[in-house]
Amino acid sequence: MLRANKALALTGIGLTLGAALLGGSQAPLMVQNHGTRSWLGLDFFVLNLLLYSAVFIPLERLFALRGDQPVFRRHWLVDLTYFFVNSLLIEVLTILTLQPALILFDWAPLTSVSLAFASLPLVVQVPVIILIADFTQYWVHRTFHSVPLLWPFHAIHHSAEEMDWLAGSRLHLVDVILTRGLTYIPIFVLGFSNAAFFVYVFLVAGQATFIHANVRWRFRSVRRVVATPAFHHWHHSADAEAVDKNFSVHTPIWDVLFGSYYLPDRWPSRYGLSGGHKVPPTWYRQLMHPFARRRQ
Ligand SMILES: [Zn+2]
Ligand SMILES: [Zn+2]
Repeated sequence: MLRANKALALTGIGLTLGAALLGGSQAPLMVQNHGTRSWLGLDFFVLNLLLYSAVFIPLERLFALRGDQPVFRRHWLVDLTYFFVNSLLIEVLTILTLQPALILFDWAPLTSVSLAFASLPLVVQVPVIILIADFTQYWVHRTFHSVPLLWPFHAIHHSAEEMDWLAGSRLHLVDVILTRGLTYIPIFVLGFSNAAFFVYVFLVAGQATFIHANVRWRFRSVRRVVATPAFHHWHHSADAEAVDKNFSVHTPIWDVLFGSYYLPDRWPSRYGLSGGHKVPPTWYRQLMHPFARRRQ
C-alpha cells in the first residue's frame, strides 16, 4: 500500500476479496482421493514466511549491523520470489535432491555401517551429520566457485548487494538441486536415523538463514567452530581480499583445515559480485542468466 505503484496492493486486496466471496476459510475443499497429489506447497510457503519473518525481522531491527537498511530494501521482492518458489517447490525439490542419495543407497547398502550409525544416540548423530554434510557441502560449494561452467549458477547467490535473512534465499535452482543432492549422499549412504536427519534439515535451514542476517553479533569465542553472520558475510564480500573464502555453512573447521578461512575483526565494506558484475533484477531473468551467459 505504501508503494507509488498500487498494482500489487490492489491485486492483493482483489484476491483477498475474491477468496472471501468464494467462502473464505469456510469454503469446502475439493479433494479428490484417487491418487492425486499436491505438488505445490503453498501452505509451507505461508508458514515458513510467517515463522522466519516473526523471528528475523525483530532480530534485525533490534540488533542491526546496518541500521539504515530498511526491511523492504532494494530487490527484496526478487529474494521473496526465491523464498516463494523454493517453498512452493518443496516437494519436487525434496524428491529431486534425495534422488542421487537413494540411487546410491540402493546400489551400496552398507548395512552394518548404517545400522551402527542409526543406533547412536541423537546427540551424537546430529553433530556427526553436520560435520559430514558440511564437509561435502564445502567441496561442492568450492567447486561451484572454481569451475567456470558452474560459477554462473552460484554467482546468482553472490549477486545480493545487501545482506539480510531473505538474501540467503537467492539460490538458482541448479545450485539448490546440485548442492543439496550431493550433500545428502553421504548422509544417506551412512544411514542415520530419520529423526537425526530431520533435526539436521531443520538446523541447516535455520543456520543458512541466520548467517545472512543483518545482525551485528560476532560470537567471537566460537568463531572458529560455528559459522556466524560475520563469517558468511565475508563470503559475500565484494572486496578482493575475501574472494573464494569461507565456504562452510555450519562449521569453519573445514575452511581452517583447507586454508580458506578468512575472518578479520571488522565487517565487509560492500557485498556482491567482485569486479562490479551485475545480474538482471528479476527472478525469471536470473533463472535464465547462467544459460544466456553460456551461449555468449
Ligand atoms: Zn559461494
Ligand atoms: Zn550466502
